[in-house]
Amino acid sequence: MPVTLTWTGHATFLIDTGSGTILVDPFFDDCPTASMKAADVACDAILITHGHFDHVADAATIAKRTGAKVFAAFEIANWLGRQGVENLQPMNHGGTAAVPGGTATMEIAFHSSSLPDGSYGGNPAGWLLDVGGKRIYLAGDTGVFSDMARIGRPRDGRRLDLAILPIGDVFTMGPAGSLEAVELLQPAAVLPCHYDTWPPIAQDAAAWAASVRRAKLAEPHVLEPGGSLTLG
Ligand SMILES: [Zn+2]
Repeated sequence: MPVTLTWTGHATFLIDTGSGTILVDPFFDDCPTASMKAADVACDAILITHGHFDHVADAATIAKRTGAKVFAAFEIANWLGRQGVENLQPMNHGGTAAVPGGTATMEIAFHSSSLPDGSYGGNPAGWLLDVGGKRIYLAGDTGVFSDMARIGRPRDGRRLDLAILPIGDVFTMGPAGSLEAVELLQPAAVLPCHYDTWPPIAQDAAAWAASVRRAKLAEPHVLEPGGSLTLG
């Protein structure tokens, strides 16, 4: 079954699994590069990597409007609950939950995770999705870590179809770190995010793609905000 991912800018993705749409890290209305507004988003589930505003800003309003279930760290789920979100799945590292089209496992990430009101957001996370017959890893905001070799290890003879990695540097791994991550994860394809939203995380994505190609590590896909990639 084809799975189509749309990057709406920054670290926000809409993933059409063929059995429903998963929204990751909703950040639309205050995102300078967002390709759409929060009010126009349709989704059946919402996954959150961590509590920073550029990953949760529109989570409560979209969750309440659509009724989509939100999968997030326990502390972030509580924060959303205090804002009136009712359909919640609190989780923590190592846990797997059913999402439209398959499953989502909460993986580790090395970052921080305070919520916009300053409250504790629990541990930051990445997501390993097995949806529509495809294995997709979203690293979230993180530096490189050696457990990426475990996350990318083939299961049932299947390696990662796609890894989605930050390349903006400063707050996350940069282009060089992402090459190291690709080496550990060994995905078939890799897609960059968390860059060019603001000047401190400006990057040359075409140069990044060329370096991935030169290293013969994976097929790089660079999108413009609003652009899509279909995994056939
Ligand atoms: Zn971020």
